[in-house]
Amino acid sequence: MTSATSAIDIDLVSDTATRPSRDMLARMMTAETGDEQRGEDPTVLQLCERIADLLGMDDALFLPSGTMCNQIAFLVHCRPGDEIIAADSAHVFGSEGAGASALAGAQFHTIATPNGIFDAAAVAAHIRTPRMRRPRSRVVAVEQTTNRGGGAIWPVEELAAIVALAREHSLAVHMDGARLFNAVVAANTPAKAFTAGFDSAWVDLSKGLGCPVGGVLAGSKDFIAEAWHWKHRLGGAMRQSGILAAAGLYALDHNIERLAEDHANARLFADIVRGLDGVTVSPENVVTNILFLELGARLDAADIAARLKEHGIRIGVEDPRRMRVVTHLDVTRAGVKQAAEAFVEIVQGMAA
Ligand SMILES: *Cc1c(COP(=O)(O)O)cnc(C)c1O
Repeated sequence: MTSATSAIDIDLVSDTATRPSRDMLARMMTAETGDEQRGEDPTVLQLCERIADLLGMDDALFLPSGTMCNQIAFLVHCRPGDEIIAADSAHVFGSEGAGASALAGAQFHTIATPNGIFDAAAVAAHIRTPRMRRPRSRVVAVEQTTNRGGGAIWPVEELAAIVALAREHSLAVHMDGARLFNAVVAANTPAKAFTAGFDSAWVDLSKGLGCPVGGVLAGSKDFIAEAWHWKHRLGGAMRQSGILAAAGLYALDHNIERLAEDHANARLFADIVRGLDGVTVSPENVVTNILFLELGARLDAADIAARLKEHGIRIGVEDPRRMRVVTHLDVTRAGVKQAAEAFVEIVQGMAA
C-alpha cells in the first residue's frame, strides 16, 4: 500500500479506503465490455441481473456511486414539494449536499432516533394528513445498515411493518443499502428478505465489498426505465464500464461472506477500548463494522487523531468528542488490534 499524501498503514476512517486486490484487478482486466449506454456491455448486464436477483427486484441499473443511486431514486419517486421521511442521522439527509431538495425538489421530514432505526408508529406520526397547504408525504427511506447509527441492522419484521404502512398511504419505500450485505452476513438473512416490498433499493460496491467504484440500484421494470432517463441526464450513463462491473462481480463471488471478519474485528476494537476511562463505545453491542467512541470532557478527538497519525493509524473525527472506527478488508485483525492498543495507550497518556 502506498499513498502520496501520508504514511497511513492502518486506515479505519471508512470502508471506502479499500483498494482493488490483485485478483479483483485481474478480473477487471479480462472483462468483456461494450457500450453500456446502449445496453451492450455484457459485464454490466450480468452484474445488474445478479444484484436484481439478490434483491428480489425485476431490474437494476449500474451507477457510478451510491449517492447517485439515492438521488435518482428520489428523482423518480418524488415531484417538487414532496416529502421524504427518514432518520435524522440518514446519509440522504445530512451527507449528500441536500441533493433531494436541490435535484428532486423534495424536503425531508426527519425522525429523531439514536441508532438510525425507527418503527412504523414513528412513520405514521410523520405522515402528513393530505391538505392543500401541506407537503405531500411521498417516500419512506431507510438505511441498511445505519451508518451514523453505528452499523445497526433493521430487523426484517420492522421493515415489513413499514412497507405495509407505506402501502396504506401510497408512499414509496426506498432502501439505502450502502451496507446491506453487512446486514445479510451479520443477521444471516438473505438480502431479498430485507428488501421485500421495497420500491427501490441499492447496494454500494465501493464500501465493504472492496470495489473502486460503483453502486447498483434495483426496482421494478418501470422504476428502472425512469431511472435510466436520470442516469443519462445526470451524466451517469457510461461506456465500457464492464471493466468496473467486473470488480462488482468479483466482489459478489469473494467479498460478501468475509464481511464477518470485519464485524469480528470491529468487536475486537470495541473489546480492547471498552472500560477505558473517559471513553464510551457506541453502540454497546457492536454488530457490524462501524463503531463510535464518545469522549469525555478531558479528551479531544483531533488531538487523539494527530497522535494516532504518528503511529500510521487513522480513525475518523466526527466532532471534538466523537470518533468513528470502520473496519474493512484492507485492515487485518492484527492491524485493528494494533490500532486499538495505540488508542488505549494515547488516551491513558493524556489522562496521566
Ligand atoms: C457511503 C454512503 C452513501 C453514498 O455512497 P457513495 O458511493 O459514497 O456515493 C450513501 N448512504 C450511506 C449510508 C453511505 O454510507
